[in-house]
Amino acid sequence: MNPKAPRGTFDVLPADARLRLQLLKIADELLGQAGYEPFETPVFEDTELFARGVGESTDIVQKEMFTFEDKAGRSLTLRPENTAGVCRAYVEHGMHKLPQPVKLWYWGPFFRHEAPQAGRFRQFTQLGAEALGSDDPSLDAELILLLAELLDRAGVGETRLRLSSLGTPETRAAYLDELRAYLHGREDALSEDVRARLDDNPLRAFDADHPGTRAVMQGAPHLLDRLSADDADHFADVRALLDDAGLAYEIDPTLVRGLDYYTRTVFEFESPRLGAQSALGGGGRYDLLIEELGGPPTPGVGWAAGVERVLLAAGEGEPAADSRIYVALAKPDAAREGFRLARRLRDEGFRVEMEQAGRSLKGQLRQADRIGARSTVIVGDVIDVKDMRSGEQRRASDADEALALVREVGG
Ligand code: AMP
Repeated sequence: MNPKAPRGTFDVLPADARLRLQLLKIADELLGQAGYEPFETPVFEDTELFARGVGESTDIVQKEMFTFEDKAGRSLTLRPENTAGVCRAYVEHGMHKLPQPVKLWYWGPFFRHEAPQAGRFRQFTQLGAEALGSDDPSLDAELILLLAELLDRAGVGETRLRLSSLGTPETRAAYLDELRAYLHGREDALSEDVRARLDDNPLRAFDADHPGTRAVMQGAPHLLDRLSADDADHFADVRALLDDAGLAYEIDPTLVRGLDYYTRTVFEFESPRLGAQSALGGGGRYDLLIEELGGPPTPGVGWAAGVERVLLAAGEGEPAADSRIYVALAKPDAAREGFRLARRLRDEGFRVEMEQAGRSLKGQLRQADRIGARSTVIVGDVIDVKDMRSGEQRRASDADEALALVREVGG
């Protein structure tokens, strides 16, 4: 057997791992400034949580969950998204007793059984932020601006922001009835898939690629024109704050996110640098979800961004210029002295690598070049410190003097 990572999964090799850590640092700093606290939930949850939280009729619940039974026969699911988990935790830990809103951010692995392709994996990483306990429109705007800033700092370049409002369940239900009636009247032109789920989830018809369905949707009524006065005001407030901040967006009344729990604001950032899987991140308001999961009525709003896609859009970038020192051994029995020197240099904060693979001295100097060492310490009967830029080599009488020379040249 020649073992490979499972289909749709990937290893993160050091160059990428470094970029991911950089993104994590940017997120920590940016979100921390706005009062968001780091937070984690388990990688698997009771299946019921997602069935209720994400919605029975969604693609995620119907087709994409990695579900398994534990030894006691309980059904568990690898988390496909985190909002349901965050809401569960909010209720479980009585966070409604804390000053509101409770602001949280997270980073971790998520799992969806999708057909793997560029930018679409079965295990991927999401970075997300949520604000629970207030329906203030400034939270919607704050979160959208934070995601825009994060993407900008990550170096993804130009993005497209689509924005809409889904209103409340009442207006949405009335609208859905209107849309169903409209679609039933044109059933012959619709794709089989849309027809099969017409009564369940007619909104998904806006997402269809099928030409007949697309033509029908051109004339379909839009939810944005049916919002209640409250919801329309809320949406206007969100937009005013975004306008004030100078953030460009497109109102897209056909924006349907693939999760059932959204109310009011929904949004999605896309990158023209990505192919078919162009969504970098998105989210929205979910004012009824916590109650749905058995908690007190509690509004919430949040987003999740796909870490792999953000880094894909950002491109390779410049590799971080690391200062490095290489400790070479001029003879095998210098190993202990070299090891000691490497430790002392690391204690001083240098990034140090040493000969640990039985290379010849020539091979070691080549290796020092390869890792971009600033200086190389050659340990033998004497200790030489080589400035790798100028090629100049100076001799030290002992370890202390060698350290002083390294400090001069730099690491
Ligand atoms: P969603 O909650 O489905 O909108 O997901 C939020 C973000 O996660 C998306 O905008 C993508 O960037 C990312 N994402 C979702 N599914 C996948 C996947 N299968 N592979 C990679 N990234 C994904």
